[in-house]
This record gives sequence, structure tokens and C-alpha cells, in this order.
Amino acid sequence: MGDRILAGKLAVVTGSNSGIGLGVAEALAAAGADVVINSFTDAAEDHDLARRLASGHGVAVRYLQADMSKPDQCRALIAQAGRCDILVNNAGIQHVAPIPEFPAEKWDAILAINLSSAFHTTAVALPMMRAQGWGRVINVASAHGLTASPYKAAYVAAKHGVVGLTKVTALETAGEGITCNAICPGYVLTPIVEKQIPDQMKTHGMSREDVIAKVMLARQPSGQFVTVEQIGGTAVFLCSDAAAQLTGTTISVDGGWTAL
Ligand code: NAD
Repeated sequence: MGDRILAGKLAVVTGSNSGIGLGVAEALAAAGADVVINSFTDAAEDHDLARRLASGHGVAVRYLQADMSKPDQCRALIAQAGRCDILVNNAGIQHVAPIPEFPAEKWDAILAINLSSAFHTTAVALPMMRAQGWGRVINVASAHGLTASPYKAAYVAAKHGVVGLTKVTALETAGEGITCNAICPGYVLTPIVEKQIPDQMKTHGMSREDVIAKVMLARQPSGQFVTVEQIGGTAVFLCSDAAAQLTGTTISVDGGWTAL
């Protein structure tokens, strides 16, 4: 089972029944952490997934339902977890439209799920981390937390906000054995990206292949999607002793996108 550097820690990963959140939950479990996985769905598959992760990695894994668009449920998730050594704020949604046509309710939902949820979970988790003098807050931001693209007003605004929240959290916890950093992935082929392809095809008048090559991966000099395993590995590194002085910053895992 490799190096179990996180044995005895409890990680809460928001939005972790698919994509990057699941990849991070799996990497933390493989490193020996007990894990709470979350989504808003509470489906039989969510509980099956928890059992699969637990038996696959020999750790305790619980599924807890919480709708991360609701402040009270964000806070209750951490309270229900009981403790929280590692908090990964990952839940996120996307909507693509020009600003004049951008639905106000989509703006509100993206700001709530992609940004405000991280504030609410962090508010409850920090006292738990302080009580044990150790903690890791990992915010899954985006290359769009550092740079912009047209038609993604709410997402880009929320992810820039996440980077700001990351810096403030780091400053408020510096010297307490707690770090807070943001991982900024480029394009990872997960359901959130799959769902954007039809909208981007419409907006740009392009085929699926052209959207992938000319819109998405055109920004990514490597010409390859990032994998969820690579994001998971970055999260484990941020939890390691080697990263104990790494706080208040962003780590780009984007195939060179933000170097352009
Ligand atoms: P995904 O759609 O596979 O995963 C999103 C997760 O969030 C799912 O587990 C979903 O259940 C959960 N979620 C959505 N709304 C929720 C809600 N109201 N309450 C609780 N959970 C909710 O997409 P992903 O690509 O894995 O995205 C995960 C994170 O990574 C997001 O914050 C996203 O912005 C970020 N990100 C993704 C990419 C990419 O290319 N895929 C790039 C940069 C950043």
C-alpha cells in the first residue's frame, strides 16, 4: 500500500463522488488517511463508493451528504465529520455564457458552491485543526483562479476569490502547524469538462474534436489533459512534512497554461 504518511489523519473532501474530488480522496486514502467523501446526491452508489475506497485502501471511509450551495449544510458537514485534519474544498460547478446572457441564478449557484462553501467549511474546520496543532486546507481552485477566459464570468470570479481566501486562511493560521494552499489545475477530463463541450461547441460553432484541441488544450502547452491522479499526488505532497512551510500560495498543475 505504499508510504502511509497520513495514517491517523481524517480528510474531508467536498464534492468527491466523481472527478478530481474522487481522485484526491483516493490518493489520500492510499496514503493512509481516513476519508469523508461528500456530494449532494445520497445515492446508493455514493455509499458503495465509500465501501470500495475503504476496502481498497484499508482505511475508514464515510459518505456524508451535504449540499455545498447551502451554508448550513457546509458547516454541518464538518461538524458531522467530528474532526478534520485535512480539508479539501473541491466541490464545483460551471456554466458557460456571455455576460449579458449569463443567468443570474447560475451566477449565484457558482459563487455559492465554488467559493462560499470553502469559507463555511474552513470556518468550522480551523478550530478543530488548532485544537491538535496540525492541519491542511487545500482549495481546488483552477488555472481560472489566476487567469481568465471569455464566457466564464462566474467561474473565473469565484476561482479568483478562492485564491484570495487561500491567502487569508494561510495568514490567519501561520505558525500554528496549519497550511492553506490552492491547487490550480488546467483541463482535466472529468464530468464538469465533458458538460462544457456542447456549450463550447455552440458558442464557438465548432466540432467536439475542435473544441478539445483548439479551445481547451490550445491553452495547455503540453497538449494533454491533466489526470485526477496527478492532482491527488499534489494533494498528498501538500499534506507531507516537506510542504510544512508551503502556505498561502498556488500550485499550478496545468501543462504550462499559466506560463504563457
Ligand atoms: P465533477 O463534475 O466531476 O465534480 C464536481 C463534484 O462536485 C462532484 O463530486 C459533484 O457531486 C460535486 N458537487 C457539485 N455540486 C455540489 C453541491 N451543490 N454540493 C455538493 N457537491 C457538489 O468536476 P471536477 O472536474 O472533478 O471538478 C472538481 C473541482 O475541480 C471543481 O471545483 C472544479 O472547478 C475544479 N477544476 C476542474 C478542472 C477540470 O478541468 N476538470 C480544472 C480546474 C479546476
